[in-house]
Amino acid sequence: MNTPTAKPAVRPPLRALDEALAELLAHAIPLTGRETVSTFDADGRVLAQDVVSALQVPPEDNSSMDGYAVRVAEVLDATVALRVSQRIPAGSAGSALEPGTVARIFTGAPIPAGADAVVMQEDTETLADQDGFVRIKQAPQPAQWIRRAGEDVTRGATVLSKGELLSPAALGLAASIGMDVLQVAKRPRVALFSTGDELVMPGEVAPAQMRPGAIYNSNRFFLRALLQRLGCEVSDLGIVPDQREATLDALRSASQAHDLILTSGGVSVGEEDHIKPAVQQLGSLDLWQIAIKPGKPFAYGQVGAAHFIGLPGNPVSSFITFLVLVRPFLLKLQGASVLQTQPLAMRADFDWPRADKRREFLRVKRNAAGGLDLFANQSSGVLTSAVWGDGVIDNPAGRTIAHGDTVQFIPFSALLS
Ligand code: AMP
Ligand code: MG
Repeated sequence: MNTPTAKPAVRPPLRALDEALAELLAHAIPLTGRETVSTFDADGRVLAQDVVSALQVPPEDNSSMDGYAVRVAEVLDATVALRVSQRIPAGSAGSALEPGTVARIFTGAPIPAGADAVVMQEDTETLADQDGFVRIKQAPQPAQWIRRAGEDVTRGATVLSKGELLSPAALGLAASIGMDVLQVAKRPRVALFSTGDELVMPGEVAPAQMRPGAIYNSNRFFLRALLQRLGCEVSDLGIVPDQREATLDALRSASQAHDLILTSGGVSVGEEDHIKPAVQQLGSLDLWQIAIKPGKPFAYGQVGAAHFIGLPGNPVSSFITFLVLVRPFLLKLQGASVLQTQPLAMRADFDWPRADKRREFLRVKRNAAGGLDLFANQSSGVLTSAVWGDGVIDNPAGRTIAHGDTVQFIPFSALLS
């Protein structure tokens, strides 16, 4: 109900991360359309097809050693020399193994019919006085050093599934069954800009010439790199000044031909924070106070057909909120089946005696003893913590940590692929 008297501003309640993520993901309708790319270029893309093998890998039984293909029953006596009846290098097909003989064979070469083991060359002896003969010094086990046909991939198997985030090994596997191209999800088109009149681009002003109050724009660098690692096509719109008109202009142009507008800074509620009113004027915006540390302010909205996400300006807040919220959002836009990383149970080798009412993402590093060390300064402005650290502890709200406690660790390597 409208009342004539102005109400005091009410602070919105803090929203739990899981709830915010679920709500955010509900807006992430996967992009339609797919793209065919060379398998060479598919690293980091999300697969938009099931990849089914038309053949088995390996195609036939083959040797995993340089040595001799033998019949086990014929080489049990180490004193007897056997004739080498054929030579089978990789890439050639031998013929059936003559009884009472062995075949010289090389790694990857098909096992000749009749042979039932390979003896590695180190376990054999060629005889100076008997050319073309070899003595098997070590009686083989049946099937030793034989890679079985189809042991990697069986014919008709789905080797990669729709929704998989392609890794270098996945590209190799696709190639091993003859796939030279792959159908992948379209790259999300992301317009990126930073807000803040204090921001200066490295290279534009030398450190010694920086005016008081100025800082270099660091968020732009890691956000662009993070987006690119997630398969996005990034339009970098640079720094937008803290002015209503400039912010409106930037948003208007970014909403053309982009799936997502991503900004950093300006989503707090100070009067220099122009993002909120500007997005609200052009579209819709929800400003969320998420109960995580670092990273409280976060905004989601829409401008035209584009999604809008506003990240906090503090570098570590920006970095962490990107990883826990924007990353799953972008993966879902690409139809990825796994959106989140499973944490690992690890031992804390430090004390964290002050519980926080927010869920914390503490920057830590694995040590040689198999535990985790804490970066001393966990401030949201200290980007060094995210470089020194190789991951974060996902520490529930209200939880202290004592030396030796088991904690939930998320390695950056799992989030940055
Ligand atoms: P804001 O969210 O705009 O209030 O910014 C919060 C803090 O983050 C301020 O100290 C800003 O100077 C800093 N900040 C904002 N944007 C950036 C950026 N792109 N790079 C580095 N620091 C930033
Ligand atoms: Mg600002």
